[in-house]
Amino acid sequence: MPWAGRVSSLLPRMTALRHRIHRAPEIAHEERQTAAAVAAWICDNTAGGLLPLAEDVGGTGLLFRVQGEGGRNTRQPVGSPGAGATVPSVLLRADLDGLPLFEKSGVPYASETPGRHHACGHDGHSSMLAAALTLLHMHRDEWGGVVYGLFQPAEETGTGALAVLADSAAMATLQQAGGVGRAFSFHNIPQRPLGQVMVRSAGTVARASTGLRVTLRGVQSHAAMPWEGNNPTLALASLASLAAGLPRRHAATAKSRGEEPPLCTLVHLNVGTRDYGISPGVGDLGVTLRACRTTTVDTMAAEIETAAQAVAQSQGLQYEAERIDYFCAAINDAASTAIVLDAATRVSRVPAVEMMQQPFSWSEDFGALASRWGGALVGIGGGLQLPVLHHETYDFPDELTPIGTELWVQVALCATGNYAGDAARWAAQTTQELGAGPAIS
Ligand SMILES: [Zn+2]
Ligand SMILES: [Zn+2]
Repeated sequence: MPWAGRVSSLLPRMTALRHRIHRAPEIAHEERQTAAAVAAWICDNTAGGLLPLAEDVGGTGLLFRVQGEGGRNTRQPVGSPGAGATVPSVLLRADLDGLPLFEKSGVPYASETPGRHHACGHDGHSSMLAAALTLLHMHRDEWGGVVYGLFQPAEETGTGALAVLADSAAMATLQQAGGVGRAFSFHNIPQRPLGQVMVRSAGTVARASTGLRVTLRGVQSHAAMPWEGNNPTLALASLASLAAGLPRRHAATAKSRGEEPPLCTLVHLNVGTRDYGISPGVGDLGVTLRACRTTTVDTMAAEIETAAQAVAQSQGLQYEAERIDYFCAAINDAASTAIVLDAATRVSRVPAVEMMQQPFSWSEDFGALASRWGGALVGIGGGLQLPVLHHETYDFPDELTPIGTELWVQVALCATGNYAGDAARWAAQTTQELGAGPAIS
């Protein structure tokens, strides 16, 4: 199937969609115009043949379903651990949101909304998935199975994937439509060779993380009479010290599992002012916790919360805690990784595959989808000359669009068992995987 040529013929329109989305970024949970632009583009390019299966998914997201009508879908579903899909099916996920940043890229299609910037390349992710779904629909007589396309809101805040999973109407629609076998997502990776596929087999590919803010309230007083108040500074300092030592406590366990050590970064400690006449009465401590397992992040956060409650109680302080920007770990399973590796060999323009030795340093809320359905998060190189993600000049590289689109198509075809021999190989791999015990979280 000459997919590369088909992708090329659609490329000018794909690029136009990417630029249109880039010009009008919307931040987490506000992506209504972006979703509308994607839906309209897919509708136009399929002559009205492909419409959303569900809208407002998780608030502002979109769900599509493309049914292959070729003869190959009589094959057994490719291994789908714990998912319960009734047909060979796969979910491809893209993210719709931009960032609350000012763009300084200078490109002609730069953001027209001050303080909004597609600085993470989600405009490219959405355009590539829109194109892949369109091509799969147009050539649906050549393949079998079901491909879902999920355009997810609010990746940047870690709340979008969870909102999708909490959308009971959308989940019921998915289940009625046959269920999901596996899920895949790409992220563009600057400063790596263009199109290079980066994947990590059977392990954490993006760490779990959470922000944690602890507030302690006492009583403000004159600095000359601190005994008249209740100053939380020492309590906050002791908590900061305890938090900073937590990674050491969990490092040995992580090492015994072959995982990178957890991290606790002190991000703020606010108490008092530069007024030397006042003994402060309130303060707060902020930390960011990261680990290869979601459970490790949860444990470290609970340890800080427990210690904070104890110190508050012993010193007569009021205690509040809040978790912010919570991300599950994104964990790839071996069979899904094998699907990606196979798909990459079928794409004409992928220069090499990099088996990652360490997870990405950032977090990705695709982890919540992968823990529900199994799957893989895949990095795809954007080119060596790009600035880092979230930089004020970041602009998704248009050269990556055709490569990523072709890779999406091939992942979809591989995951739904459209190539001879693959299903048996993956099924064997999946059996091994399931025999190895429950998935880590
Ligand atoms: Zn980002
Ligand atoms: Zn991103």
